[in-house]
Amino acid sequence: MSYRKQQRYRTCRGRCGQRRRRFRKTGVRLPAVIIGTVLILILCGRVILTGGIGGITGQAAESQAVETVASPDTSSGQQDSRAARSHQLKNAQEQEWNLLLVNPWNPMPENYEPELTYLRNGQAVDSRCYPELQQMMDDCRAAGFDPLICASYRTMEKQEALFEDKEARLIREGCPENEVEAEAAKVVAYPGTSEHQLGLALDIVDVSYQQLDTEQENTPVQQWLMKNSWKYGFVLRYPTDKSDITGIIYEPWHYRYVGKEAAAEMYENKLCLEEYLGIN
Ligand SMILES: [Zn+2]
Repeated sequence: MSYRKQQRYRTCRGRCGQRRRRFRKTGVRLPAVIIGTVLILILCGRVILTGGIGGITGQAAESQAVETVASPDTSSGQQDSRAARSHQLKNAQEQEWNLLLVNPWNPMPENYEPELTYLRNGQAVDSRCYPELQQMMDDCRAAGFDPLICASYRTMEKQEALFEDKEARLIREGCPENEVEAEAAKVVAYPGTSEHQLGLALDIVDVSYQQLDTEQENTPVQQWLMKNSWKYGFVLRYPTDKSDITGIIYEPWHYRYVGKEAAAEMYENKLCLEEYLGIN
């Protein structure tokens, strides 16, 4: 049963309990007691039925979810399997903010709004990862390098605008209309599926080379970050050999905060976030 359904179910049961208690406290004469009793029975019947329906629906949804998750790979295709896993993830994700998975198959949680800390250059990140980010940037500079954060938190509106810009450019270049969306999604994450919307992802480049292409991996800043970012809880989120799993091309500039413990394990065992969470 999903967290929201549980809450709804609890609320319903709570209300039913209140109604019954109120009836017990009422003191009235005999005829009124008989009429009252009949009314109470009718009302209680409705109340219990209403509660019951909510409960049954919740249980059915729960058992359905368990069933779906239990046999994701046998009769379904990869898409179904991923959908089942994304369903399985939802509850766990409510607890572990630093491990929230957002990728082409797992969109942002609804109404997710991180508390932000703004950086001097106008960029913003989830406040919970700010101290470690600051430390990482300070240490990178102290080591003699020149890192620059060129992208960080994005609102849904910003991601939509980026996506629409990409679509408009493709149309101008003559891309067939029925392929525009899919083509745009290869380069810009579909709104709601960009990690940048979490406030936990950063694009960091070397000041001496600011192109977002594979050459970025050879810059001194990337060499340092790839070797050290895990110590601060950040991982290179889209490694070159994990595109099939992450759904995103190699991006030797995109770092994601996952917390020090997870980052250390992912770095040591060469795991991407999907593999770490066991859903690749
Ligand atoms: Zn990025």
